[in-house]
Amino acid sequence: MIIKDIIESIFSIALFINAILFVPQAIRIFKEKSTKGVSFSTFFGFLLIQLTVVLHGLLIRDYLLVFGYIVSMITCGSVVVLILMYKKNKTANIELEDILDQLPGHIYWKDADGVMLGANKQNWQDFGVSSLEEFKGKTDYDLFSKEDADQLVLVDQEVMRTGKPTVAEEWLTSQGQHTLYLSHKAPLRDKDQNIIGILGVSVDITSSKKETVEKLELLENVIAATPGNVYWLDTDGVYLGCNDNEAEAVGLSSRKDIVGKRNVDIPGFVIPEALDPINQEVMQTGRTVTVEEPAVLKDGTEAVFLSNKVPLRNQEGSIVGMVGISIDITERKKQEEESQRAREAAESANRAKTEFLANMRHDFRTPFVGILGMAQLLESDESDPVKREELACITQSAQALLDQLNEILEFIQLEDGILPIFDKQFALVRMVNDLVEMMRPSARSQGLRLNVHCDDALPMQVVGDRQRIHRVLVNLLSNAIKFTQKGEVSLDVSVAKMDQDRAVIQFIIKDTGIGIPPDKQEIIFEKFNRLTSSYSGVYAGKGLGLRMVKRFLDEINGEVHVTSEVGKGSVFTVLVPYKLPLLAGEKP
Ligand code: ADP
Repeated sequence: MIIKDIIESIFSIALFINAILFVPQAIRIFKEKSTKGVSFSTFFGFLLIQLTVVLHGLLIRDYLLVFGYIVSMITCGSVVVLILMYKKNKTANIELEDILDQLPGHIYWKDADGVMLGANKQNWQDFGVSSLEEFKGKTDYDLFSKEDADQLVLVDQEVMRTGKPTVAEEWLTSQGQHTLYLSHKAPLRDKDQNIIGILGVSVDITSSKKETVEKLELLENVIAATPGNVYWLDTDGVYLGCNDNEAEAVGLSSRKDIVGKRNVDIPGFVIPEALDPINQEVMQTGRTVTVEEPAVLKDGTEAVFLSNKVPLRNQEGSIVGMVGISIDITERKKQEEESQRAREAAESANRAKTEFLANMRHDFRTPFVGILGMAQLLESDESDPVKREELACITQSAQALLDQLNEILEFIQLEDGILPIFDKQFALVRMVNDLVEMMRPSARSQGLRLNVHCDDALPMQVVGDRQRIHRVLVNLLSNAIKFTQKGEVSLDVSVAKMDQDRAVIQFIIKDTGIGIPPDKQEIIFEKFNRLTSSYSGVYAGKGLGLRMVKRFLDEINGEVHVTSEVGKGSVFTVLVPYKLPLLAGEKP
């Protein structure tokens, strides 16, 4: 009986302790609004057992037992209710550690000696460690190579010394693998704000960095292989880079060698003082400059570069340097100089030729005029008809020679473009009539009729170049007479177009001569083009006349057209625009 009482007392005390023990659990769940570490089924099982005991107590009428278990049920029941309440709040149920464990990247905290105090799952798993417990207590020397660990310790110590967070890219080698981390490190503080270690977050950026690096490398390779010499420098004139051509041109073994150098430090630039002011101008004014720059190459040869220099700007638009591209134009420059020298030589030879011709003209004409004059004098004094005829032959031949000489010299003068254009008033019809009279003897000597017709509507006076139209008509009429054996040659002058200030005059020279084949009608206007050879003795000439006609007409904005039929004759039509005088002058 005593034993039964003792057992019941112990049971009651145990019940009471049990009921009391549920209270802190309930308070914790209520406070933290989290059921972490509390099993619903365990508490619910307890509750059912308690309920059974209460029912049993009622049956055996042990009310103390019933009371004790009801109290115990209240505390245990409140835990069950709270579990049910906070189980619903899913997000509140996630623990900070869970979150840390789920976070990608490495999160770690270590003490002042670099000993790991904690880390997220990703972190310790990546280092091949099987549990957090195993990870704790390790140092950087256990995880990385000594070299890397030394470097990390330095950074950690700096953060702890200054108390300032830091961000750095760290290449680390672990388990034979190189990884680039972007690490944020901050001092780890206790509740009293004392720095007790390091808190770090490191993210693996190897693959994204690799992509960027590959892109940069591609870009660099493109620049390296760019034709011409490419280089870029900062506002202090310090080179930041260049392409392969530039490095080779200035005597550097690698393009990386240019980095950090100025023009004065580069052996290939013997004339740096000429370059620096240009670079400075580009960076100060922000303008693009194109300039020819002298340089002496590594082998000592002098060179000239054509350079295009552009200011280099940052994202805000401020000038941070300059980029230039220079092309070696030494060869082109030489060629230009050579052709300039050749041009000058040709011009001076041309001047000498013109001078020579002017002298020759004078030197030839003077004795010719003397021969001609003396022959004419002898001819007029001679009474013997045979001798007079012989003298007349001398006179004619000398005259013909003089005419030809004049023609050649005039042509050369024309080719040199030294015949000025006159814009003067002249009597058109009178000029035409005088000219025809001049041609009449030669037409007559060939037994040809020479007809002239001037339209009544012709203006009395025109303003233009009299000399050129005179030479054009003389040439065309001479040809017409020369290439016509029988029949007639005619000149018809009329108005093609006229308004108050201007008139276009039309001159038609027609003959009944040998004609010109259609396929030759263009080329007869070219220099030295003759359809019949003078060696054949039939038609003399040099093939210069029509070329002169074309050239003169071009100079006075005129035109010439030809229509012809072989064996029937030719028609040359000339159109020339003239200004009309303000006041009408003499009659045509
Ligand atoms: P050329 O001094 O030989 O007359 P031109 O330049 O005046 O030189 O004429 C070039 C050629 O055109 C002549 O040699 C001739 O063959 C041809 N030609 C020019 N005018 C006539 C014409 N009216 N009838 C036939 N052939 C002509």
